[in-house]
Amino acid sequence: MSRILIVEDEKHLAEGLRFNLEADGFDVSVTDKAEEALKLLLVDKEKFDALLLDVMLPGKDGFTAARELRAGGCYIPILMLTARSREDDVLEGFEAGADDYLAKPFELKILQARVNGLLRRSRWAEVGAKSAEPVEVNGKKIDFESQQIITGEKKSMLTLMEANLLQFLVRHEGQAVSRKQILESVWGVRQDTDTRAIDNFIVRLRRYLEDDPQEPQYLQTVRGVGYRLVQKLRKETSSETH
Ligand code: CA
Repeated sequence: MSRILIVEDEKHLAEGLRFNLEADGFDVSVTDKAEEALKLLLVDKEKFDALLLDVMLPGKDGFTAARELRAGGCYIPILMLTARSREDDVLEGFEAGADDYLAKPFELKILQARVNGLLRRSRWAEVGAKSAEPVEVNGKKIDFESQQIITGEKKSMLTLMEANLLQFLVRHEGQAVSRKQILESVWGVRQDTDTRAIDNFIVRLRRYLEDDPQEPQYLQTVRGVGYRLVQKLRKETSSETH
């Protein structure tokens, strides 16, 4: 049974979420404080399969909590509950380490679908990761199974969606892929998601992969299209032209 942790201070909503998710067969825990969730996940090391995280909370807000979880080495899939009126919340949520988001108010059915989607992608990531051979980009080893990028002694953990996006790019190595394609294939979102969210993830992946993230060589921007990953740079064959 999948365990879900909900951080939501609107009592009505929290109980509605609990009721519906329990009816779907999930084991649900609810708290109204981010601090409590941080304790459960980082200190008590309790195992949950997904975190539903409200942004506006008394005390620590959802963005801060997501950042602290990631910084503390917790890579639980996070579905952020944002305010619809604030478009930038979406971007900040992804920047903070969220894997997906849902704008309030939402239909419970949509939320259930998103939670199931997140868990499904998380399972795919596990299965996919086991069959995916580690790859090298710019001399850095990407190990999908452990969700890490290994550079010499340094290991960086990837979040679920960072790893999924990277797997997608690796599968399309050398090809230009559009933001829309990425949203549909990696996030399973068809409409109304801000494609700038993708740019945000690309910036993060560049920090892991590039020598100079400002001058990306491996994770390239393809003007008017989207992005392209190349694993190895073609050596300039300048000597042949001389
Ligand atoms: Ca709230």
